[in-house]
Amino acid sequence: MNKITNHLPTAELQALDAAHHMHPFSCNDEIAKKGARVITRADGVFLTDSDGNEILDAMAGLWCVNIGYGRDELAEAAARQMRELPYYNTFFQTTTAPTIALAQKLAELAPGDLNHVFFGNSGSDANDTNIRLVRTYWAWKGQPERTIIVARKNAYHGSSVGSGSLGGMAYMHDVNSMPIPDIVHIDQPHWWAEGGDSTPEEFGLQTARALEAVIEEHGAERIAAFIGEPIQGAGGVIIPPETYWPEIQRICRKYDILLIADEVICGFGRTGNWFGSQTLGIEPDVMTVAKGLSSGYQPISASIVSDKVAKVMDGSDFFHGYTYSGHPVACAVALENLRILEDENIIDHVRNVAAPAMKAAWESLSDHPIVGDTRIEGLMGSLALTPDKTTRAKFATPEGTVGLICRENSFANNLVMRHVGDRMVISPPLVITPDEIKILITRARKALDDTYAHLKANDML
Ligand code: PMP
Repeated sequence: MNKITNHLPTAELQALDAAHHMHPFSCNDEIAKKGARVITRADGVFLTDSDGNEILDAMAGLWCVNIGYGRDELAEAAARQMRELPYYNTFFQTTTAPTIALAQKLAELAPGDLNHVFFGNSGSDANDTNIRLVRTYWAWKGQPERTIIVARKNAYHGSSVGSGSLGGMAYMHDVNSMPIPDIVHIDQPHWWAEGGDSTPEEFGLQTARALEAVIEEHGAERIAAFIGEPIQGAGGVIIPPETYWPEIQRICRKYDILLIADEVICGFGRTGNWFGSQTLGIEPDVMTVAKGLSSGYQPISASIVSDKVAKVMDGSDFFHGYTYSGHPVACAVALENLRILEDENIIDHVRNVAAPAMKAAWESLSDHPIVGDTRIEGLMGSLALTPDKTTRAKFATPEGTVGLICRENSFANNLVMRHVGDRMVISPPLVITPDEIKILITRARKALDDTYAHLKANDML
């Protein structure tokens, strides 16, 4: 068999990929027809593909490469740890130094009394942990009937059966007997798409109060927790109205319901603070983190838990965990990533340099004929593609048709932007410079121009 390396011709790599690799969240037949784009290397905010194109990655991979690509320090941290202790488990009253150090560091960084860390390998499995954790918490407190977890439509919490059930993407539930029992989804605070004639402030209150309505319907004694992303990411970077989170927080406190903030995207600087909860004014009992925790250099996630929750959970055997919970190599890499975020003041760079430059540049796209609702918080942004920005109209084509055209135009212009329905989203590495932001916006505008021309030429406006 041929050794498969970047040196093979692109077509050969694509054929082998199509023959054997099943892509996540994809139609593999379609990819086989077109050929997957083969990414060969990356540095800073730029990817290189097998044809030598330099592509600005305005998605930081999958919202995760916060410190940017190509940091040797993380490779060295991994190699050092692999040589010393490549693996040991944390199940049977054993631990390792990097696991301890990372748990301690996360307790220091996380707000409030979130001082206890349960490790996993992905955002999905961390949210599965959270399902079991909050239900177990209430059972051990003598309230085993508190099993319902309230989540939002169009939320994304992962794609395992548990975390996918928390998620509110109906197309993921089809034919899968999902959601699992006792998950209730309420409306999302997506004013642009669903706010009708109400003001954003009114809509924020209205969608938050849907939580109270669920509590009243089922009885507070049945509700274990509410889970939400501070800013919905995969749902289209939906920045909630300012009234939303304070009202959710008030309701959770009033009925003694645990609040889980899914910080898988918002965590580690994305919104200009260490955590999205700080930006949005949320005080969670449990936080899910992953992605930016290691900047994607290793798969690692965690549930960070408050003193109150840990006090109950620490009292008995919690029959839950993963072979790689607290993996020493992943922990060593995450620690090095956090060191770089701190030592290089990358979160200050987001807050003081990159986010203000990006906000001005991103919002400047609102003069484009098919762009409405340019929204950005820190370095996560989105814009709505619309045939009529004054009425917030949708295109006549099925949702996502125009978004996909724009995404392809963006790719063709060497910019990775993602589409969610007919919304374009960005989430670049946090180290992006003002000059790179200019490149990003120039390419985004070109993608929008190309999309507009396509829509006009094909009578799609
Ligand atoms: N939660 C959120 C908010 C996410 O955005 C994601 C991934 N996009 C997940 C959970 C799932 O993480 P993973 O893909 O690592 O399982």
